Amino acid sequence: MALYFISDLHLQASHPKMIEGFLALVSRLKQPESDAEALYILGDFFEIWIGDDYEDAIVKHIKQSLSALSDSGVAVFFMHGNRDFLMGNRFAEECGGKLIDEGTVLTNGAQQVLLAHGDHLCTRDVEYMKLRQMIRNPEWQAGFLAKSIPERIEFAQHVRGESKGENSMKSNDIMDVTPEEVDKAMTAANVDLLIHGHTHRPKVHDWIHEGQARQRIVLGDWSDEDGWLIRWEKGESPDLQHFTF
Ligand code: MN
Repeated sequence: MALYFISDLHLQASHPKMIEGFLALVSRLKQPESDAEALYILGDFFEIWIGDDYEDAIVKHIKQSLSALSDSGVAVFFMHGNRDFLMGNRFAEECGGKLIDEGTVLTNGAQQVLLAHGDHLCTRDVEYMKLRQMIRNPEWQAGFLAKSIPERIEFAQHVRGESKGENSMKSNDIMDVTPEEVDKAMTAANVDLLIHGHTHRPKVHDWIHEGQARQRIVLGDWSDEDGWLIRWEKGESPDLQHFTF
């Protein structure tokens, strides 16, 4: 049996092929011959999420497919990203899944892994860290969710436009994780393995920290033609895979 990890799909109505690619993966994991035990979606599953009370045809379809996956015996887990941080328990339950906290430590066989979306490790992005503090505040979130759906859509599109403009101005260095923060988080969690997404820099990093081998596996973002996943069989090493639809 194996655990599967994906992140940064950024699903949105304007990219139907990507949505099809995701639904195809779900249907593959659901097959009787599939080895999938669980699917972990580590944030930025949706490009924007304005609240669990909003549902369009796409969201409905995704809920149905994940629900069927869960019914087939594959556990489904969600972690917040920086775009879908308003995803709530209601949505997770409607998918037959469960929300898990950032920084969850998972045990797979004899190995332990720290799971994160990864945005909190990009501490050199000072502007974003400030924004993050605001939008992750429960009072701010309650205020936002109390607004009407058209108001929320308008706000989300505005923020998204700004952040896209800003990111294009930032150096690559700023948008990647801070190595010291990675080591700090791994030491605090007492693990030598970290899986995260967010940076859109899919890669396996190996290094030595205080005499101990450490590994960080970064999931990639999806496009209309391709995606990334990690397949991790018990007793084996996690395997970062690139695939086309
Ligand atoms: Mn992200």
